[in-house]
Amino acid sequence: MEKIPFNKPYMTGKELDNIARAHSNGHLSGDGPFTHECHARLEALVGTKKALLTHSCTAALEMAAILLDLAPGDEVIMPSYTFVSTANAFVLRGAIPVFVDIREDTLNIDETLIENAITEKTKAICVVHYAGVSCEMDSIMDLAGRYGLYVIEDAAQGIFSAYKGRALGSIGHLAALSFHETKNIISGEGGALLVNDERLAERAEIIREKGTNRSRFFRGQVDKYTWVDVGSSFLPGEITAAFLLAQLDAGAAITAGRMGVWSNYDNWATSSSLAIRRPVIPDACTHNAHMYYLLTESLDARTHLISGLRESGIQAVFHYLPLHSSPAGRLYGRAHGDLPVTIKVSDTLVRLPLWLGIESAQQRITDAIERVMSQERAA
Ligand SMILES: *Cc1c(COP(=O)(O)O)cnc(C)c1O
Repeated sequence: MEKIPFNKPYMTGKELDNIARAHSNGHLSGDGPFTHECHARLEALVGTKKALLTHSCTAALEMAAILLDLAPGDEVIMPSYTFVSTANAFVLRGAIPVFVDIREDTLNIDETLIENAITEKTKAICVVHYAGVSCEMDSIMDLAGRYGLYVIEDAAQGIFSAYKGRALGSIGHLAALSFHETKNIISGEGGALLVNDERLAERAEIIREKGTNRSRFFRGQVDKYTWVDVGSSFLPGEITAAFLLAQLDAGAAITAGRMGVWSNYDNWATSSSLAIRRPVIPDACTHNAHMYYLLTESLDARTHLISGLRESGIQAVFHYLPLHSSPAGRLYGRAHGDLPVTIKVSDTLVRLPLWLGIESAQQRITDAIERVMSQERAA
């Protein structure tokens, strides 16, 4: 029986050609021709003022925290149902993550709970577009405007997704993308900071280049290249950018292919009589088929399903443990309320394998889910 992994990185076939070109043109450090081309592609795709490649989405979020001048004690509102980097990036500046519950439908931060979590210490809201499905950005941007808060989009899963026709990553003041190999568009490790607020653009370049004005120097805008601010080394080398450019070139086709896989699962789930809940995509959202998940009735039902699928050679996995109740979350953060939806979803969500090339095995997967879950119901 052939094993079906949860993830399988998709290669376009053009990556090595690009890497060979980077190799022969001899520019291997960051910000060479491949990086500049990736910046231009991302700026056009997302419609952002400035895209800057980073070595990860984590790095882009850390840059965002530096750019916003967060100081110890400042608060950043975010979901608890997210990856650790969403919180860690701010904790590294001494800021306090304030964890808010998520919506039952999209599993994104519940925008109706944010206002009550705002204090005089609140500086920013960091939203996460779970599964590449947008948060309710109109309400969130409106709220942020009224309280003078920054909005950062953790759009790690959101490339090629949109909210009311606007690309994810183009709506907040800042946004972060991920090109980790588990995402839709990949470069192994990789990410980008998207700067939509023009006032932050020049300083973003400086922070990314170890706190120097190197970018301005290379553009001939200053005649000395010197230390002007805090910063670190956040940029990837050209080999990574060369790989990424091949993926960006194929981005629309990759997204369409994933959508086919996603729809196969969804067509099955729609007609299945099992006790499962399928993903909800609000009318305002165009998603990118980053993830197909199911919600089971209970933790027991999910454990039974994951182990039953494993016995059939199929790797399905759960996702985030709530950050607010994790050891570091308790130490560095604060929960706003009891977060019942976060706790429930963390116990009951299961992600199905989703990658290009899996199409012919999807029937085997859905048959196995039907078999395993009806066994449980009979027991
Ligand atoms: C993947 C992911 C990250 C981290 O991305 P890296 O590129 O691995 O640093 C952050 N936030 C979310 C929501 C993610 O899904």
